[in-house]
Amino acid sequence: MNPWRDGYCGEISSSQAGTELTLSGWAARRRDHGGLIFIDLRDHTGYVQLVVNPEHAPDAARVAHEVRSEFVLRARGEVVRRAPDAVNPNIATGDVEVQVESLEILSHSEPLPFQLDEENVDEVLRLRYRYLDLRREPMQRSLRLSATVVAAIRRSMEEQGFIDIWTPSLTLGTPEGARDFLVPVRLQPGRFFALAQSPQVFKQLFMISGLDRYYQIATCWRDEDLRADRQFEFRQLDLELAFPTREEVIDVLETVVVASFEALGRTPPSRPFPRVAYAETMLRYGSDKPDVRFGLEIADATEVTRGSEFGVFANAECVRFLVAPRPFSRAELGRLEEFAREWGAKGLAYLVVDDSGEVRSPIAKFLSERELEAFAAAPGSTVLFGADAPAMVERVLGALRSHLGGELELVDESQDAFLWVVDFPLFLPHEETGLWTFVHHPFTGPIDGQEDLIESEPGNVLSQHYDLIWNGWELGSGSIRIHRQEVQERVFRAMGMTDEEAHEKFGYLLDALRMGAPPHGGFALGLDRFVALLAGESNIREVVAFPKTASGSDPLTGAPTAIPDGVLKELGIATRTNPS
Ligand code: ASP
Repeated sequence: MNPWRDGYCGEISSSQAGTELTLSGWAARRRDHGGLIFIDLRDHTGYVQLVVNPEHAPDAARVAHEVRSEFVLRARGEVVRRAPDAVNPNIATGDVEVQVESLEILSHSEPLPFQLDEENVDEVLRLRYRYLDLRREPMQRSLRLSATVVAAIRRSMEEQGFIDIWTPSLTLGTPEGARDFLVPVRLQPGRFFALAQSPQVFKQLFMISGLDRYYQIATCWRDEDLRADRQFEFRQLDLELAFPTREEVIDVLETVVVASFEALGRTPPSRPFPRVAYAETMLRYGSDKPDVRFGLEIADATEVTRGSEFGVFANAECVRFLVAPRPFSRAELGRLEEFAREWGAKGLAYLVVDDSGEVRSPIAKFLSERELEAFAAAPGSTVLFGADAPAMVERVLGALRSHLGGELELVDESQDAFLWVVDFPLFLPHEETGLWTFVHHPFTGPIDGQEDLIESEPGNVLSQHYDLIWNGWELGSGSIRIHRQEVQERVFRAMGMTDEEAHEKFGYLLDALRMGAPPHGGFALGLDRFVALLAGESNIREVVAFPKTASGSDPLTGAPTAIPDGVLKELGIATRTNPS
């Protein structure tokens, strides 16, 4: 027998009426009603009402007077049905209460820095006292939902023949496009491990070892600016398969997504999830992670504007537009132009077609009938243009599309839109250096037959990389990998690495690729993002137990902190900045 409780607060039902129980939990609320004292006792399952009658239980009543919010109590008493007019239909145990015979305070509580039912509590305060924040029902729900999803994923992966293998966190830098977190090594002063940005290379090595199907709920560390969908450390469902086809990898992921929905009792998205090629999504949505729950698609007008009298169009490498279903006012257009400039546009050309069909625009007089027809704007709409290099046009119109989707409430929130983006380019020019750099990571394979173009025409090679998108969030990425050493070397060369550099950085992988590497491929699903979306949260901090703030600190522990000089010395480190 457990001395603390023989039932859970939220599970007491009228079928137990007449039985005597011991219950433990937190005092959520205490009300004194002229003699009778009511206490809502809470545990992880919910609440039950305790009633203390000073006439029947004078000792318990004395204790009840001392009880304050969030005290931890143990109560013993009889479950009784409430009188019909006292039934509370808002809680699961609303038709019963416990007539207390004995009551004990197990633990006191100071007044809390915020009330558990308070709304809009400052996030730093919530994180400073996260253990209290986690007492709140929405947080409990998110963490339990997360656990349900992780369990469903594990079940599904095991059913699909994957085995869970642990990989090290302390390793050599892994190129996933972010900075590494570095860990000094006392035994080798001046040397550092990197915390794994992902188990990427290890899982490829597992395939070379013949382990066939690997998975792991892996923690990954990336030193990046934090955002609503990004933390320094996060979990991935990481997986790899030997001898796969792209379709097989996609099938594994779709199975996992459906299993997660089912575990939560939700209608899963129908399979197969739609596919869209990278080039098409960049053209139509200006994004490689499009939210397709609304239209507002972008169209190309480069051909039709060649030779335009409007010089900006005629001379731009690329001209595209989208048609918003509203005739914007001058003030609104001013704001949109400012928005476009923030994304790098030089300006924002527009045509407003008012409700009577009349066109209002400083550029209309330069445009031919043919051009105006091509923009096909209905009365009561606004055409917004991007005219620049394709990458800039995609960026600006893509951002405008997302912004307007939200602003004009075009998004159908009732939909779950999953889709695969496929046929990515293998390389894109690096934003700062202009050098060819990988789109996914350097281990991604080119489409079969394009290996010979890697060095001669890197910009024209398509890759076997695929991304999974849900409602405009990138849930994860994967690819069929390079399994031939000479192809891997070509990719490193195309990225501007000498063979020596490639061997220095990735010699261990290149060696392995020479010793019987099977074709292989895999994927990583961002678990915290997936769980956040399943929980209906737009910020992953709401589903992570102890997240960092946007500025990268942990208000609970105060980390990161400065380290005493003596410790640094032992590690062979001298710091240049003194954190204040
Ligand atoms: N390692 C990759 C990532 O973390 C996923 C993969 O290619 O499997 O995005």
